[in-house]
Amino acid sequence: MFHKTLVVDNDLRFADSLKKAMGAVTEGDIDIYNFKSDSLDDIYEYDLYIIRFDELTYELIRTLSKKNKFIIITTNFDTQEIRESILSFHVSDYVITNSHASIGFVCKLARRLECNSNKNILLVDDSKLILTQISMLLDSQNINHIQCHNGAEAWEYLQDPTSKKIDLVVSDYEMPQMNGYDLVKKIRSKFTFDELPVLILSGTGNTYMISRFLKAGANDYIPKPFINEEFIGRISNALTVVDMFNEIKNMAMTDQLTGLHNRMYFYDAGVKIYEGAKRAKNPISVAMIDIDNFKSINDTYGHEVGDQALKHVSKTIKKSLRRSDVFVRFGGEEFVILLPNTPHDQAMKVTKKVCSLVEKAHLTLDDGTTVVITISIGVTSEVVDIDKMLEKADRYMYTAKQNGKNQVYSEE
Ligand code: GH3
Ligand code: MG
Ligand code: MG
Ligand code: MG
Repeated sequence: MFHKTLVVDNDLRFADSLKKAMGAVTEGDIDIYNFKSDSLDDIYEYDLYIIRFDELTYELIRTLSKKNKFIIITTNFDTQEIRESILSFHVSDYVITNSHASIGFVCKLARRLECNSNKNILLVDDSKLILTQISMLLDSQNINHIQCHNGAEAWEYLQDPTSKKIDLVVSDYEMPQMNGYDLVKKIRSKFTFDELPVLILSGTGNTYMISRFLKAGANDYIPKPFINEEFIGRISNALTVVDMFNEIKNMAMTDQLTGLHNRMYFYDAGVKIYEGAKRAKNPISVAMIDIDNFKSINDTYGHEVGDQALKHVSKTIKKSLRRSDVFVRFGGEEFVILLPNTPHDQAMKVTKKVCSLVEKAHLTLDDGTTVVITISIGVTSEVVDIDKMLEKADRYMYTAKQNGKNQVYSEE
């Protein structure tokens, strides 16, 4: 993240509005620097600069761009000459500030730059020259990248479980060993369009080529030779789509009331963890939790207090778990914990602690009434398949209910 941002602008009204708007983008400090009147002790201590382009700031931009700082240029002049002059520097991008929307554009760019630091692009090209040119462009956008020299190398990287998670593949077409077309086909045999987007770089010689790429599963196509701005624009768009997809997926897997993950997440991420543990022969436990007499909490205090109780219980349980434990709201007043690397005796210990913590953590209502909430838990550590483990934990949980509730039960 950007810890310190400097806005260099003599238009103080613009600078102030920009500072306010940027407050929503970054948690770091934002300073304003007026070239005419301010003095700065250390102008190089910032990580993001938003600079008005004019004769006063020209030298500053030149120096900063040599120091590989992130720079967004603002200018009122939308001419080819200014554009070329700005892009002769190693800057992230520029914004024409002649409309009300311009502050929003600057913020969007800053947000993109900040998000980019978590992104990894796999860059595939047999030309060292192109690799160097694109590397510089990606550096200016704060995007990490890994380089491969042909399709075969890239495919090997994507299949290696120790590789970094790749967000986007940018591949040349003509390459030795495996070309871009065959690489796209391979990628689509394993990853969907949303999981791993692919952009293909190629000359426009053959008119059918573009449609062939798209049919084979490329998300987009960048004609060569490209201009840097277009290249960056297309990469940014592709990454924005990835972010939007992840956001939607995350929303679908999150329970709105408690903020916990839901059953869908359990079957997505939880099952992967389970299968990894099973392969590695690591111990794993599953606990099924159900709130006791929840219907009577609703009936006595009302549905709203019932909702409050669900939030309260989930918070109490979450606090006592490890980060690696998968804790989800499985249904109405049922929760599941998947405990990786946890043998049975340890799982019993953890769940007994959870059980007693929930009983002790009374829920206090607005009028001062305290409500005691208890839970019943079933625990299994016999690794068969995930559905059987859930079934067993559920059966043990019902026995815990029959035995008087507010307890943990297992037959293992
Ligand atoms: P037991 O101790 O046997 O588990 O009894 P119980 O009352 O907890 O179980 P029962 O299955 O009879 O009732 C569960 C209740 O949970 C019924 C349902 O209305 C309530 N419930 C489910 N989801 C929500 C929710 O999101 N909010 C509220 N307030 N209540 C919910
Ligand atoms: Mg090539
Ligand atoms: Mg229930
Ligand atoms: Mg219940």
